[in-house]
Amino acid sequence: MVTITDKSQCCGCWACENICPKHCIRMEEDSEGFRYPVVDTDKCIDCGLCEKVCPIKQPRQDDTAPESFVVQNKNVQILRTSTSGGFYSAIANYVIERKGVVFGASFNGDMTLRHTYSETLEGCAQFRGSKYVQSLIGNSYSQAKRFLDDGRWVVFSGTPCQIAGLFGFLRNRKYEKLITVDLVCRGTPSPRLLAKYLAYHSSIAGSKVIDYRSRDKYYGYDYSTATITFADKHKSYHKGMEGDMMLRLYFKNICSRPSCYACHFKTLHRLSDITIFDCWDAPSVSKMFSTKGATNVFIHTAKGKVIFDRLKDDFIWSASDITPVIKRDGIMIKHCVPANPRREEFFKDLNSLPIDKVEQKYLDCSLAKKAIAVLKPMLYKLGVFRLYIKFKNRV
Ligand SMILES: Cc1cc2nc3c(=O)[nH]c(=O)nc-3n(C[C@H](O)[C@H](O)[C@H](O)COP(=O)(O)OP(=O)(O)OC[C@H]3O[C@@H](n4cnc5c(N)ncnc54)[C@H](O)[C@@H]3O)c2cc1C
Ligand code: SF4
Ligand code: SF4
Ligand code: SF4
Repeated sequence: MVTITDKSQCCGCWACENICPKHCIRMEEDSEGFRYPVVDTDKCIDCGLCEKVCPIKQPRQDDTAPESFVVQNKNVQILRTSTSGGFYSAIANYVIERKGVVFGASFNGDMTLRHTYSETLEGCAQFRGSKYVQSLIGNSYSQAKRFLDDGRWVVFSGTPCQIAGLFGFLRNRKYEKLITVDLVCRGTPSPRLLAKYLAYHSSIAGSKVIDYRSRDKYYGYDYSTATITFADKHKSYHKGMEGDMMLRLYFKNICSRPSCYACHFKTLHRLSDITIFDCWDAPSVSKMFSTKGATNVFIHTAKGKVIFDRLKDDFIWSASDITPVIKRDGIMIKHCVPANPRREEFFKDLNSLPIDKVEQKYLDCSLAKKAIAVLKPMLYKLGVFRLYIKFKNRV
């Protein structure tokens, strides 16, 4: 039976929980806010299934060279609300047109990120956009299997470890109508941190949080912006990279799951049909692309290629060369970020100090930093910062 002795060796994918025939595994939250399996040994029959499906226990496969493309959705509204080029929404559309089911990560009413599904196009809008927090898989692998066994199309998106968890749970059985899409993934922050951060902003605004976007395009694609929407919409919060606590902690490598700093899934070879990630400078790939966001797409399977070809009318696209793509945008495909040496101390403080005190202790809150946090978004909004970057790149 599954026993966790080293937390870096459990990515929290829920495959063991979904497969257990005795339902005796619970995913329990630890002191950092991440979930790990705990077995009720009285009910366990020692069948060993939970260990067999664990994706971390599977051997890493050799790298293969995928086909590489850059895409930008032609639908302006989808492009605006997607993280990069809106590729995932194009696939969702494809599956819904075939009366299939779309799985992805979305917030529930309590602002907990979990995997769920939709059978309508309107329902798929909830999946758009990257959420920088670990999503709870819950019973979504079992639900996906039921739809597949009924002969329905299913598209499942998630982090590479979640897609590996899905394949573990399916015992690598091949389903012709299953499409899997994984992301290039830097890591997933603690759900407890996000809950504290949102509660803090809710108390300042005096209004309930109804939506949170980690990578809004409020100031444009190339300036990551956190947007919090409150029930009182006039109080909306938009802060760029330098001004938002959650983004700053994420990029400080201090708040992700331990397995993210020793990630087993950072290989060019993927189990998924398709891998998607940011394309930061699409106009340099082709003048056809605007600066409004584009997705790098790696196709790993023949099925992925067939679907990509059928979708081509939905977006502007161009083939690309994987070597420069990896160098420019894809460092995280194969490399882990190192854990911040203060990570352990950080989580202790997260449990004992108010979140604004945690911010002051771990982030530079000097006047100069605050001035940049106010000025930079304004320069982005006016287009000045982008001109400066263009000039700098030319020089
Ligand atoms: C935690 C995280 C880290 C990432 N790190 C990188 C990186 O280092 N480099 C890089 O180039 N790209 C990274 N990405 C991917 C990138 O942010 C975009 O998702 C990608 O460019 C696809 O954009 P899109 O516009 O095509 O689709 P989007 O509209 O962004 O939708 C993509 C899909 O992501 C799923 N999703 C969103 N949040 C989560 C989550 N927390 N867990 C599981 N699934 C989720 C949604 O269900 C949706 O189906 C990361 C994404 C996430 C969620
Ligand atoms: S060994 Fe079998 S019964 Fe026991 S926890 Fe694992 S899957 Fe469940
Ligand atoms: S199957 Fe997933 S959740 Fe279970 S032990 Fe393995 S990595 Fe952890
Ligand atoms: S970095 Fe690796 S372990 Fe962490 S969420 Fe991403 S794929 Fe999973």
